[in-house]
Amino acid sequence: MQDHRRLGRELDLFDTDPLIGAGLPYWLPAGAAVRQALEEYVAGLEHRAGYQRVYSPVLGKRELYELSGHWEHYRDDMFPPLRLGSGPEGEEVVLRPSLCPHHALIYRARERSYRDLPLRLAELGAMYRAELSGVLGGLTRVRAIQLNDAHVFCTLEQVADEALAALRMIREAYAAMGLDAARHRLSLPGPGGKYVRDPGLWRRAGALLEEALAAAGVPYDAEEGEAAFYGPKIDVQVRDAAGREATLSTVQVDFHQPARFGLAYVGADGARHRPVMVHRSVVGSAERAVAQLIEVHQGAFPPWLAPVQAVVLPVGEAEVAPAAALVRRCVEAGLRAELAGPERGTLGARVRAARLAPYQAVVGPREAAGGEAALRLRDGRRLAPLPAAEAVARMAAAVAARRPALWPEGA
Ligand SMILES: [Zn+2]
Repeated sequence: MQDHRRLGRELDLFDTDPLIGAGLPYWLPAGAAVRQALEEYVAGLEHRAGYQRVYSPVLGKRELYELSGHWEHYRDDMFPPLRLGSGPEGEEVVLRPSLCPHHALIYRARERSYRDLPLRLAELGAMYRAELSGVLGGLTRVRAIQLNDAHVFCTLEQVADEALAALRMIREAYAAMGLDAARHRLSLPGPGGKYVRDPGLWRRAGALLEEALAAAGVPYDAEEGEAAFYGPKIDVQVRDAAGREATLSTVQVDFHQPARFGLAYVGADGARHRPVMVHRSVVGSAERAVAQLIEVHQGAFPPWLAPVQAVVLPVGEAEVAPAAALVRRCVEAGLRAELAGPERGTLGARVRAARLAPYQAVVGPREAAGGEAALRLRDGRRLAPLPAAEAVARMAAAVAARRPALWPEGA
């Protein structure tokens, strides 16, 4: 098992530059293709689950994080404020340590009724963590994080169902990505001053998460000292190539920030009530999710996530034109496809170079004459030559199915 940093370099997925800085990787085209496929998938999953997409700024005034509690409880992990202007008119803005405060303000900006709840706001947005340079590396120890985040504003009665729905989305996404959860952890507060003090609220929030875990039928370990400062959370833990555990997905119940921001909705009784915030991330950050995918699949991604899905191999110069036409057909069908022509070496060498692509389409004299393609799957299976249009349609269907399997059963 190789670590994602080494594979990331070998496969041209991402890199860093000292002039950009440690912990600030950039995504190369192949890595960006994986990330974009993942982002589009999650956006579709959220759309079907009733989430609405928002975008909010990566900066906010210092007062915003004082109000949310981040300034008090989380300041050591935040970048220092940027001072704009001087004197009494000056202001301080901060790179955000999380998306929650922005979403709380979006909720608060309009009058909300119980009929609007659950209100589910989703964003894939950046947040920043002032990690020391000694611990930075790869995609997992970074200073800028693109988080798949969402906040569900709901009534107390709706919390357990929303948390359960989030656990089910996580399960569905892991199946599509070919990832296994190592375990579920119920993270509770520990001793020490980093938690908001209100034992009654912590117990209620913890009980709601336990209810969701029981309804989902997943075993879990309760652990003290891993909660967010504002509430307990369910952490879905994964294991990397070295066997180290990390949190990928989370579901959290928060009574604290709705109170800090004075959030309210008008109930059926006409009175104002406080909503609960359920924070949830299906795939965690783009960085950690892709790092995990790289390590688990060792670069042989499920077809829908593969940087290049189809490599078209003309046997000789005479087949280059029909092979290029097949590449165009693949691209038109939405596939990421490329031509590996004879200038790249012998057919055997090109087949080996393309070994991580889920599909190889060999075009020899017979296929060129008949308008066909001979598909080879990454696992070594070879299919009988198919008309080019059918070969493309079948690859596109396998990709669209978003499963780890290379080829649908019986196809
Ligand atoms: Zn949040």
